[in-house]
Amino acid sequence: MLPCIMTDITLTHEPLDLPLSGVWRISRGSRTRAENVLVRLSWVDADGHAWEGQGEAAPYGYYGELRGTVTACLDEFATLLGNDPFAIEAILGRIEARVRHNTGAKAAVDMALHDLWGKILGRPVWQAWGLDASQGPVTSYSIGIDTPEAMGNRARALAEAGWPLIKLKVGTRDDIRCVSAVREAAPSVRLIIDANGAWTPREAISRLSELAQFGIEFCEQPCSSTDVAGLRFIRERSDIALVADESCATEEDIAALVGAVDGINIKLMKCGGLRRARRLIEVARANHLRVMCGCLIESSLAISAAAQLLPLLDYADLDGNLLLASDPFSGVTASHGRIVLGNGHGLGVTPRTIHTEA
Ligand SMILES: [Mg+2]
Repeated sequence: MLPCIMTDITLTHEPLDLPLSGVWRISRGSRTRAENVLVRLSWVDADGHAWEGQGEAAPYGYYGELRGTVTACLDEFATLLGNDPFAIEAILGRIEARVRHNTGAKAAVDMALHDLWGKILGRPVWQAWGLDASQGPVTSYSIGIDTPEAMGNRARALAEAGWPLIKLKVGTRDDIRCVSAVREAAPSVRLIIDANGAWTPREAISRLSELAQFGIEFCEQPCSSTDVAGLRFIRERSDIALVADESCATEEDIAALVGAVDGINIKLMKCGGLRRARRLIEVARANHLRVMCGCLIESSLAISAAAQLLPLLDYADLDGNLLLASDPFSGVTASHGRIVLGNGHGLGVTPRTIHTEA
């Protein structure tokens, strides 16, 4: 019998530049592109069959990540992978023991491991987890901060295209006029708002009481991420439900948020990937918190990874790929807000052929 030779998993990475189709503005600033990183994990099985898993890091500037810190971490992680792609817990455990933060870099490796795992199994990740792809919420489509007229026009176009749920970025002096213009342009869409921490707790109470007339389902991160007492203060005085985003990165943040918010917004780039996201969901559920999954500006690769969690969610905000000028990957598709989880193995993602002029 031939000896069973297991090859080590190898990691390579390259820049993934993602220009946006327009300017994306939130209360903290604006941007026109995302400087992400593409990760590939390669492995050859005992029969000589070569497998590849892909992942994506969107450096989370709010938590101090840059493309340079992501690539430095990835070079470090490349030495910790071993030779068994099924040993996801052990591999990610070694990575977490090596660096404490840098969750975007960790998320990319986590995603690529799940992609590799599903491809070797010959199953989509959601199916390998035992989930029902027909279950799950619609995804919202986000509108960045703009003039009331422009936000209203965008909302009208989205409503006419059949999007049932719109998320509005707020946090300027024009908030009331902007939300009012959107509600007038799209009377029947469901609305959520996200202040990205722009208001003081007292400002938040006053804004939310004025905005309640427009039928808002919940408000994400009304005040500073570090002010959990402020979130609790607002929640006790507002009729609009609150969801923690920047205040909740990992499951360790949840204990302090119980009673201060109604739900949490999970992002792969905040928690470090699918394995940690599933842990966050369990801890949130045990504490009677609603669960949303959001994203950064990401290609269909990272969006398709997050979408594997859909059957476990109450709310989804997985629209980062829809804001791109061109998407280098094909993966899950969203139609009328409904994301379809396909049967593609692993994350179900393939590179898109981009034709360039000769
Ligand atoms: Mg948010």
